[in-house]
Amino acid sequence: MAKSPETELPLKAFGWAARDTSGTLSPFHFSRRENGDDDVSVKILYCGVCHSDLHTLKNDWGFTTYPVVPGHEIVGVVTKVGINVKKFRVGDNVGVGVIVESCQTCENCNQDLEQYCPKLVFTYNSPYKGTRTHGGYSDFVVVHQRYVVQFPDNLPLDAGAPLLRAGITVYSPMKYYGMTEPGKHLGVAGLGGLGHVAIKFGKAFGLKVTVISTSPNKETEAIDKLGADSFLVSKDPEKMKAAMGTMDYIIDTISAAHSLMPLLGLLKLNGKLVTVGLPSKPLELSVFPLVAGRKLIGGSNFGGLKETQEMLDFCGKHNITADIELIRMDEINTAMERLHKADVKYRFVIDVANSLSSL
Ligand code: NAP
Repeated sequence: MAKSPETELPLKAFGWAARDTSGTLSPFHFSRRENGDDDVSVKILYCGVCHSDLHTLKNDWGFTTYPVVPGHEIVGVVTKVGINVKKFRVGDNVGVGVIVESCQTCENCNQDLEQYCPKLVFTYNSPYKGTRTHGGYSDFVVVHQRYVVQFPDNLPLDAGAPLLRAGITVYSPMKYYGMTEPGKHLGVAGLGGLGHVAIKFGKAFGLKVTVISTSPNKETEAIDKLGADSFLVSKDPEKMKAAMGTMDYIIDTISAAHSLMPLLGLLKLNGKLVTVGLPSKPLELSVFPLVAGRKLIGGSNFGGLKETQEMLDFCGKHNITADIELIRMDEINTAMERLHKADVKYRFVIDVANSLSSL
C-alpha cells in the first residue's frame, strides 16, 4: 500500500485512491489535519459515487493530481467538534458535499454562493495549505463547520448521501432559473444519478416530467418507480419530432459530449435549457433555435451551503432520497466500469464504515 507524501499532518487516515489515469482505485494511507477550533470531525458512514468522481479518476478534465481519493457525497457521524462549533454535537448525523473551504469574504461567499468563490477548495483533488484534499472514499474527514450540513432525521443515511451532490446540483438551478411553476413541463435529459433525483424534485414542485434518455430499458422504472409522466428515447427520430415544442424547461445531466440541438427543439417559446452535466468536450450548438424561439441556455454548479441545507430539509419534508445500489469498498472498480456504461440504478453508494474497516 502506498503512503501519502503529506506526512506533516498528524492524523492517520485510510481510504482508496487512484494513482494514474487508469482510474483504478486501491487501498491508500494518508494524513489529515488535527481538528481545529472551527472544525468538525466526521466518521464517514456512506459515500455516493458521482460521475464527477469517474471524470476525475480518468483525468477527463485535465486537472487531476494523483494520488486522488474521490468522494463528495459524504454522510457520517460527528466524532469531534472544535471549541467554536455550536451548531453540531458529537453523535450528530451530518453531510459533507463538494467543497471544504472558500475565502468567506468575497461577494459570492457573502451571498451564500460559496460554489462560485474563486478560492474554493474542493473536497478532493484540490491543493490545500501545501497538501491535497482527499474525499469520502475514506474513514473520516475534518471539515470547517461552515461546510458541514445537518442530515434530516427522517431520511436513510445511505440513500440520502447522493443528495449532497446529485441532489443539490439539480435543486439549485431549478430554483434559480424558476423551473418550479406547477403544471409546467420539465424534460430531464440523462437518467443517471442527477437525472433520477431531478424527476423527484420535478414531481415535488408539481411539474409534468418527461425523461429524455438513450436507454429504452429504463422506461418502465422511470414511470412506475421514479414517478416520471413520460419517457422519450432520444435516438427515436419520430418520437423526438412528435415532442418538439412541448417542454417549458429541460435540465441536461448528460455526462458525455452531445448536441444541444435536439434538446432545444423540444422547448416551447421562451423555454429554458440548463446544463449541469460536465462532458470534457464542447457541445454542439447553433444560435438559430435560440433566437427564433427566445430560448435560454444556462449552467449551474452544485449549490452553496445554505441552499444545500435548504435542499436537504426539503427532501426531509417530501421524503426524497436517491435510488441506490449499496456496494462494498472493494466493489468500487466494477462499479466505476458500470457507471461508465450508464449501467446503474441510479446511484452507487459505498458502505464505507462497514467495508473499509474489514479490509
Ligand atoms: P451518471 O449517473 O453517469 O448519469 C449520466 C447519464 O447521462 C447516463 O445515465 C445516461 O443516461 C446519459 N449518458 C451517458 N452517456 C451518454 C451519451 N454518450 N449520450 C447521451 N446520454 C448519455 O452521471 P451523474 O453522476 O448523474 O452526472 C452527470 C454529469 O453531471 C457528469 O458529467 C458529472 O460530472 C456532472 N455533474 C455536474 C455537477 C455540477 O455541479 N454541475 C454536479 C455533479 C455532477 P441515459 O441512459 O438515460 O441516456
